[in-house]
Amino acid sequence: MSNRQTKTDVILIGAGIMSATLGSLLKELIPEWEITVFEKLEKPGEESSNEWNNAGTGHSALCELNYTVEKPDGSIDISKAIKVNEQFQVSKQFWSYLVKSNLIRNPQDFIMPLPHMSFVEGDKNVEFLRKRFNALADNPLFQGMEFSDDPEKLKEWIPVMMEGRKLNEPIAATKMDSGTDVNFGALTRMLFEHLKEENVEINYKHYVKDIKRTSEGLWEVKVHDIDAGQNKSYIAKFIFIGAGGGSLPLLQKTGIPESKHIGGFPVSGLFMVCKNEELIEKHHAKVYGKAKVGAPPMSVPHLDTRYINNKKTLLFGPFAGFSPKFLKTGSNFDLISSVKPNNVLTMLAAGVKEMSLTKYLIQQLMLSNEQRLEELREFIPNAKLEDWDMVVAGQRVQVIKDTETGGKGTLQFGTEVVNSSDGSIAALLGASPGASTAVHVMLEVLDRCFPQYMPKWESKIKEMIPSYGVSLAKNPDLLQEIHSSTAKTLGLEEEIPTNTDDKTRQLQEV
Ligand SMILES: Cc1cc2nc3c(=O)[nH]c(=O)nc-3n(C[C@H](O)[C@H](O)[C@H](O)COP(=O)(O)OP(=O)(O)OC[C@H]3O[C@@H](n4cnc5c(N)ncnc54)[C@H](O)[C@@H]3O)c2cc1C
Repeated sequence: MSNRQTKTDVILIGAGIMSATLGSLLKELIPEWEITVFEKLEKPGEESSNEWNNAGTGHSALCELNYTVEKPDGSIDISKAIKVNEQFQVSKQFWSYLVKSNLIRNPQDFIMPLPHMSFVEGDKNVEFLRKRFNALADNPLFQGMEFSDDPEKLKEWIPVMMEGRKLNEPIAATKMDSGTDVNFGALTRMLFEHLKEENVEINYKHYVKDIKRTSEGLWEVKVHDIDAGQNKSYIAKFIFIGAGGGSLPLLQKTGIPESKHIGGFPVSGLFMVCKNEELIEKHHAKVYGKAKVGAPPMSVPHLDTRYINNKKTLLFGPFAGFSPKFLKTGSNFDLISSVKPNNVLTMLAAGVKEMSLTKYLIQQLMLSNEQRLEELREFIPNAKLEDWDMVVAGQRVQVIKDTETGGKGTLQFGTEVVNSSDGSIAALLGASPGASTAVHVMLEVLDRCFPQYMPKWESKIKEMIPSYGVSLAKNPDLLQEIHSSTAKTLGLEEEIPTNTDDKTRQLQEV
């Protein structure tokens, strides 16, 4: 270890979409702060944020059925759908601001308009979809949603999925034309290019080994420079651990009380990628189905038109599976090394509780390509194995923690910010809704870690994100304005109609 210690204001660990977003926000809010980034790989956006490692859905609950749960009385709870949708509007506004300010260019390289659809089969599921549609249709955030259980209409919407389909049971779909496909890998690379232009020091092939508090209350980060084969030491006032699956082990090293009693459960993924150009051309939507009984929400495979390297393509998946690695480039010892005296009971409790999930993931992992084809045929009845290749997707590390409602060792499916009580360090854990809500989540990091700066930053945040602190579901006029302006700047669809009742004109605080 060299004795030299380099001082900086902010250290961002990991060059994924989260660090990219936080760095870009900070550069707009307080440009004079020095920011240093460490990334173990040679380029940004190579792990979960890479376009081949995630599904590229701009999650806004337009098609993902797990965001609208059926309550015991049969009604549909849309609160989570509203939350996710509003968070995606925050991302679109910030991206739009960056494009308008010429800080990033060519939005079509990272975001494309694409219909989002839900598709179900069977009486019970059709009934659920109809109820979901009725619950959402009047909400300004979901204006423009269409429902159909008419096979002729569905042939227009999704011809590839209707060809060869035996109509033994009822089918139905909803469609929202204002959905998006987002290339989070391209966006991450663009944001790091921008940060480089802003003189952020970005160190690739630098692996963060340890994080410790100094006697002055600052943080010391020990980094291994892979090419030089040297260890270096950096001191900073604020650290953000945006290491994706690698965040939990680094958070544990900090020793902060908030890092205790938390575990991680890794879920691997696999996509089928279409090589048949005719099929790719004929399908134009992201189509999500309903999770089978016993299957975790993130395992619902979907049929997605994608735009990768400006080329239209078609992916099916991700199939979930089990791997003990926390990153795609991680180690088989990641899971076992994350078990510590303070979280062993939490992990064991989760192990017992989630036995059926583990069994499900192992079964998924053992599927043969022919069995995967059977799942694909629920979407494309005439699918042929020779038209599809398999690619390994990113790792998702779901958070395990003790909660009041779920008890010890409860598996969480969301994205979680963990920070020290003095706000000098924060980490991002969890995977979903993930990249789509990066801007909202990084604003949460700022709010928790820099409360003393927030009053000063508020007007700049509102300039970048006009809906900051405001419920868009309750302010259709503002929503319409934002839809129109972001659609124009980002090259998305025409504005969607909204009902603008006078009584809802006043801005309502969230
Ligand atoms: C299969 C799958 C499908 C998904 N689908 C969607 C989707 O459709 N829509 C959506 O919005 N989100 C989706 N997500 C989630 C989304 O991809 C993630 O939430 C997001 O990419 C996480 O970004 P990140 O910056 O936190 O992590 P990452 O992109 O993983 O970046 C973390 C970086 O930290 C680096 N790192 C790790 N440890 C260290 C260390 N010790 N030292 C230095 N560097 C380190 C890694 O190399 C990596 O580059 C999906 C994820 C997966 C896996």
